[in-house]
Amino acid sequence: MNIAIMGAMPEEIEPLLDYYGKYETIEYAKNNFYLVDYKGHRLVIAYSKIGKVYATITALTMIKKFKCQKLLFSGVAGAISDDLGIGDLTVATKLSQHDLDITAFGHPYGFVPEGSVYEESNGELIGFAKEIAEQKGIKLKESIIATGDQFICDQDKKEWIGKTFKASAVEMEGAAVALTCNAVGIPFFILRSISDAADMDASFDFDEFLKSSSKRSADFMISMVEKIIDNAK
Ligand code: SAH
Repeated sequence: MNIAIMGAMPEEIEPLLDYYGKYETIEYAKNNFYLVDYKGHRLVIAYSKIGKVYATITALTMIKKFKCQKLLFSGVAGAISDDLGIGDLTVATKLSQHDLDITAFGHPYGFVPEGSVYEESNGELIGFAKEIAEQKGIKLKESIIATGDQFICDQDKKEWIGKTFKASAVEMEGAAVALTCNAVGIPFFILRSISDAADMDASFDFDEFLKSSSKRSADFMISMVEKIIDNAK
């Protein structure tokens, strides 16, 4: 099986490259894709660069060019909900684009033309994650995640996103990856570790916790890969 593991920033995939150790690098569409042969399977690892457009390009490249049959996203996010603290892990149950606004035509915020407000995640992969969390005694939340091409560092904006989308976390790639994968029928799993609280201290917290939170997410993803491979036997 070919399994894609993507992040948005170098820090989000570095722990994975360090862990798997040996990889081949292929350049495509102005990005690097790192190919790992692992237990008879192929892992395709890449960081997309930040935002929905780059995330879409990378996700579709991993699926179409590198023939990935499952896609995992590992990274950091801002917390909206008070019960998510720095370093906490959350999986996305469904995702929405908080900055997609055609409300002038009577549609709700986040509505995707010919689509819907939310993209649903894959239940089987979330089930695997819950089993891993239970086995390892890791606290794992399930959240609606809101995605937009904005770094959220404002209390009012954060509250608006939370209220409008019932979202517990905010980031800049997830919903684009979800939409891409659902469009072509590829199961995906989006995991985020909290780096900041999307408030006025967010940029400072982000810089301080990017590395440690990225590592927590990546470590969990390594167990996900193991579980997916075991299940494919
Ligand atoms: N420091 C970077 C910009 C980081 S943008 C630079 O200078 O280029 C934030 C990244 O982390 C995005 O990939 C996003 O998915 C995630 N993220 C973490 N906290 C966030 C927040 N509060 N709002 C939006 N995205 C956030």
